[in-house]
Amino acid sequence: PSPLGPTPKLVIDLERLQQLPKDKAGPLARYAATIQTQRGDYNGKVLSIRQEDLRSLAVIYDKSPTELTEELIGWGVLDPEARRAVESF
Ligand code: C2E
Ligand code: C2E
Ligand code: C2E
Repeated sequence: PSPLGPTPKLVIDLERLQQLPKDKAGPLARYAATIQTQRGDYNGKVLSIRQEDLRSLAVIYDKSPTELTEELIGWGVLDPEARRAVESF
């Protein structure tokens, strides 16, 4: 077990996501909307996603999971804590 505690969750800030230009945020926004529909989870300000989903998103964005995580942190969509979630890949 990590001395820093359990692996943090990947939590998408949906309000921040809505503020971003579509050319950047579009694929992630569509992916998040699909998960919300599948769960029936429509009213959240945030959405917890699977680690597997970050892998899929990295393929969509043509980046490594680490690179995509840095980009999403830069956009303010992911918390910097998310770095530790991706280290375990
Ligand atoms: P599923 O993968 O067969 O999961 C069925 C149900 O198991 C989910 O219903 C949820 O109640 C529970 N479940 C599965 N994995 C987890 C988990 O890691 N954490 C939690 N808290 N519960 C889990 P739910 O939420 O209604 O989702 C229905 C279906 O929608 C899921 O079926 C899956 O196909 C899809 N889905 C929902 N959320 C996600 C997601 O974040 N990523 C992906 N790839 N698919 C998702
Ligand atoms: P947490 O995982 O730290 O989530 C804190 C709060 O963030 C949640 O409070 C909720 O308001 C929001 N949140 C996080 N992820 C999502 C999401 O995917 N959709 C939406 N709509 N909101 C989200 P809440 O609901 O009062 O839950 C408090 C705590 O209860 C959660 O802390 C977690 O520890 C636990 N919990 C709630 N639902 C689940 C679940 O489906 N699976 C598991 N394993 N724990 C859950
Ligand atoms: P969580 O609910 O606290 O689950 C933490 C981890 O426990 C998940 O990480 C997964 O590795 C495992 N886990 C929990 N429930 C199940 C399950 O039913 N089946 C399997 N195979 N594993 C399970 P993961 O996958 O990275 O998901 C991170 C967080 O994303 C979850 O935290 C939950 O908040 C959310 N999530 C993921 N999938 C679903 C889903 O299908 N429905 C809902 N409502 N939330 C989900």
